[in-house]
Amino acid sequence: MTLPTDIAKVKLVMSISAISLQSGSNGNCIFVEADGIRLLFDAGITGTQAEERLAAYGRNIREIDAVIISHDHGDHIRHAGVFQRKFGLPLFITPQTLAAASARCSLGKLHNVHHFRSSDKLRFGNVIVYAIRTPHDGVDGSIFVVESGNKRLGVLTDLGHVFKGLAYIVSSLDAVFLESNYDPAMLAAGPYPMYLKQRIRGPRGHLSNQEAAELLCCATESKRLQWACLAHLSEQNNNPSIALMTHRAVLTGRIPLYVAERHRATDILTIL
Ligand SMILES: [Zn+2]
Ligand SMILES: [Zn+2]
Repeated sequence: MTLPTDIAKVKLVMSISAISLQSGSNGNCIFVEADGIRLLFDAGITGTQAEERLAAYGRNIREIDAVIISHDHGDHIRHAGVFQRKFGLPLFITPQTLAAASARCSLGKLHNVHHFRSSDKLRFGNVIVYAIRTPHDGVDGSIFVVESGNKRLGVLTDLGHVFKGLAYIVSSLDAVFLESNYDPAMLAAGPYPMYLKQRIRGPRGHLSNQEAAELLCCATESKRLQWACLAHLSEQNNNPSIALMTHRAVLTGRIPLYVAERHRATDILTIL
């Protein structure tokens, strides 16, 4: 039996909503909801913080379908064990990430663990999550594209550098959480030791405001990108107003910009 055209169309234009519950080196966690599926990307904030910030938007953390971990750094995985045990949430993680994170921080006993590889396609109901490998200095880091119907949301942080294919990925999206980690002048003049400055701006570190802005600028040529939320801003080497100023200078009002903050959740951001 074929579906009436209007029903088929409703399915095709399914929207995606997302909330950054927190972003930055003090802990990362992004909630994404599409077609009845609820996902958390990373578990770098406490279970209580995640539970309360979701509850403020009427979401119950116990109804999350999967917690998907990007890489082994503590700001992304520190509380994954608690998320899994306290709320009974399935954990999706690569074997190398799990091994490296277990050696570094105590995740405790994990029961409901599903392994994926950093180039896999994960399916939750009708929602597809594409994991894409990054050159960041985690052992086996991934970024993610969430696809529901014809809509695509990027969860792109801890990127390393603007690697081959990244601009193409961003231009294929309807909205994106994009790392905009540091202002080069603030990093150069700031208090970090030289090895750390070199790590951050090196090929396995983070993206600067300018690099992120140029990526977004290229992506807007596809006329697909509805908004961008700047994420993983450094506390020492960046701030929301400098990041926004750099992006606005490059993007000149082409798309709405939001900032994922270090200590509180964003509004619900929706792809229409
Ligand atoms: Zn990070
Ligand atoms: Zn990292």
